[in-house]
Amino acid sequence: MKSYRKELWFNVPTRRAFINITPQVEEAVRESGVKEGLCLVNAMHITASVFINDDEPGLHHDFEEWLEQLAPHEPISRYRHNLTGEDNADAHLKRTIMGREVVVAITNGKLDFGPWEQIFYGEFDGRRRKRVLIKIIGE
Ligand code: ZN
Repeated sequence: MKSYRKELWFNVPTRRAFINITPQVEEAVRESGVKEGLCLVNAMHITASVFINDDEPGLHHDFEEWLEQLAPHEPISRYRHNLTGEDNADAHLKRTIMGREVVVAITNGKLDFGPWEQIFYGEFDGRRRKRVLIKIIGE
């Protein structure tokens, strides 16, 4: 069985963003040489997500508004976690809603997506260096 590991680094200049990382994950699959297997992609931080959905700007705007309704950034004082001196309680909640990781099948050396599926990095507390892990196993 082959095994391949790669980290992607991000330094998003804004607090929140959605970034399509499908090309980087496809590149990792090529580098792995795996033709049949599984590809795990996970955020390595508890204030960021990796998720699969449509690459459609209206939908991303809807996600942003929906998440802000569920877990508004402000007022900072509404969250117990922020009593630690942090201001990112909302980012932890948003990360939990949008998920930590995705697993995609690899078939014939390609990510075996359903229609319109793309992989996104969801940043909820940016302006610092953060990582995504790609782990690929198979033959
Ligand atoms: Zn925190």
